[in-house]
Amino acid sequence: MRSLDDFPRYPLTIGPTPLEEAHRLSEQLGVRLLLKRDDLTGFAAGGNKARKLEFILADALRAGADTVLTGARPQSNFIRMAAAAARKVGLDPVAVVSGKPPAEVQGNLLLDYLLDTEVIYTGSEDRDSVDAVVETVRAGLVERGRRPYVIARGGADPLGCLGYVACSAELLKQLADLDLRPDYLVCAAGSCGTQAGLLLGARILDAPFQVVGIAVGRPAAACAADVARLVASTAALLERPSPVTPEDIVVHDRYIGPGYGVSTPESLEAIRRVARSEGVFLDPVYTAKAMAGLVDLVGRGEIPQGATVIFLHTGGLPSLFAHARDFGFDPTS
Ligand SMILES: *Cc1c(COP(=O)(O)O)cnc(C)c1O
Repeated sequence: MRSLDDFPRYPLTIGPTPLEEAHRLSEQLGVRLLLKRDDLTGFAAGGNKARKLEFILADALRAGADTVLTGARPQSNFIRMAAAAARKVGLDPVAVVSGKPPAEVQGNLLLDYLLDTEVIYTGSEDRDSVDAVVETVRAGLVERGRRPYVIARGGADPLGCLGYVACSAELLKQLADLDLRPDYLVCAAGSCGTQAGLLLGARILDAPFQVVGIAVGRPAAACAADVARLVASTAALLERPSPVTPEDIVVHDRYIGPGYGVSTPESLEAIRRVARSEGVFLDPVYTAKAMAGLVDLVGRGEIPQGATVIFLHTGGLPSLFAHARDFGFDPTS
């Protein structure tokens, strides 16, 4: 068996991130709610991708890369953080983005351009258009004598998942210090590396809570399959049997609405509610839907009154500025 310390890690996070009581939300919902503030990881505006990139970037350096290449949709938090991390360690960032160049350079895209990321648009809205173009761009870079390191979308690979195995360990230590045994940990499920890493870490360390993923774009079955695959490959990387059972993998897909990145009345309400109750900003794509899910699960009694619940705030604030119109505020009225 290998431990986390056996893997090279480039420091990109200020940790441990705070674990905070959300007093006013707890009162509103009738549960004890704590926020694990991974929006405050620090580097490059923060968020969950920093933990993944600590292991991935260290591997890129080990591999002797000179360029970091990844793909995603526009407003990707992962591209912003991967590009910033690449700059910090002296590598050049290249990003393949689905769709056409947007009319307005806002949010994460503004930061991507500030980092002088080479952004290549696929012209197709289909997010699966990204992978084929990444491969073409990679081949082109190699032809020009560059040494690109390709990172999976969202950093959802076994090395990235180690970042969330580490987060589980960090969280369990905080819980032990507080003498707390939560019943649930709720997080957003996108590329699912976060849920997979957390779940593997939680089961290895015998955590008391169930990990509940809230899908933000894809059906629950697809997410659950990704979680299972990533748990297995990450356990293999750690050279240990996986203690995760199929029943451990819980993903709800009722909160997606019309699609990935499209706000719902409930997700917008979650953003307003958390801001007005706690002074904490959620992002529109991930954490707003995850919180909308948490609120609904409490409302349905699937998370019972009096339960202790941890909400993993995975960051994403920059994309809020690209969604200002969703809220329809009119300061002149
Ligand atoms: C990427 C992202 C997620 C989802 O994490 P995955 O590991 O891709 O499932 C959640 N929240 C924010 C803000 C993100 O940027």
